[in-house]
Amino acid sequence: MSDIESLKNDLVIASRILANEEICDAFGHISVRHPVDPDRFLLARAVAPELVTSDDIIEFNLDGTAVCDDRKPFLERFIHGTLMAARPDVQSVVHSHSRGVIPFGITDTPIRPLLHSCGVLGHDVPVWDAGDVFGDTNLLISSNDMGADFAARLGNGRAALMRGHGSTVVGRSIQEAVYTAVYLDVNAQLQAEAMQLGKVKYLTDGEIDLIQPRLGDAKPGEGYDRTWQYWVRRAGLGPDAPVP
Ligand SMILES: [Zn+2]
Repeated sequence: MSDIESLKNDLVIASRILANEEICDAFGHISVRHPVDPDRFLLARAVAPELVTSDDIIEFNLDGTAVCDDRKPFLERFIHGTLMAARPDVQSVVHSHSRGVIPFGITDTPIRPLLHSCGVLGHDVPVWDAGDVFGDTNLLISSNDMGADFAARLGNGRAALMRGHGSTVVGRSIQEAVYTAVYLDVNAQLQAEAMQLGKVKYLTDGEIDLIQPRLGDAKPGEGYDRTWQYWVRRAGLGPDAPVP
């Protein structure tokens, strides 16, 4: 199987995982940078993640124009291209409207990692507010200008929220991006619960710095690799159930 076919397969699996883990519902999407041309990326046509198959994957330039394909694209494809243009280290992007994080995008309480598994979120999870620069909009990132402004807000981070809308995470692989999207929501849910009990003791910056490489540099069967295998099986995929 070629690199691009392999990445398309992983993109389909990732879409099914994100749906199964309730990070995406009918909305949300995941992309991966093209394995040969870093100025392009792969993203499904506008279809719910649960329904994505390999045939749905479209190739895009970083400005969001499709390469020889006139099928309906996601309106918010600009999130993916502008982030990859701003961040050469980013190989994969997940955008979702997962519900656990929404309260933190509309209040002055920031998301902060509080659990070992969530150290991947990094020191800071900023909130981007479309209204700050663009005034009243439908809140969706529907242009390269909005995408670039969001990318600037994310900076060198791993995750950022969009006020009244959702969140976006980046990864050096599809597996890392999926992991970060899942655990962003886990952290948000636990943080909301813990804040009702009292003062929360968050991870320190030093702890976060030690956790991140342990997950990212893990051997096969550890870190992102282990969670990927687990989520693949939970999504009903794997050796006994070929990728659609
Ligand atoms: Zn959205």
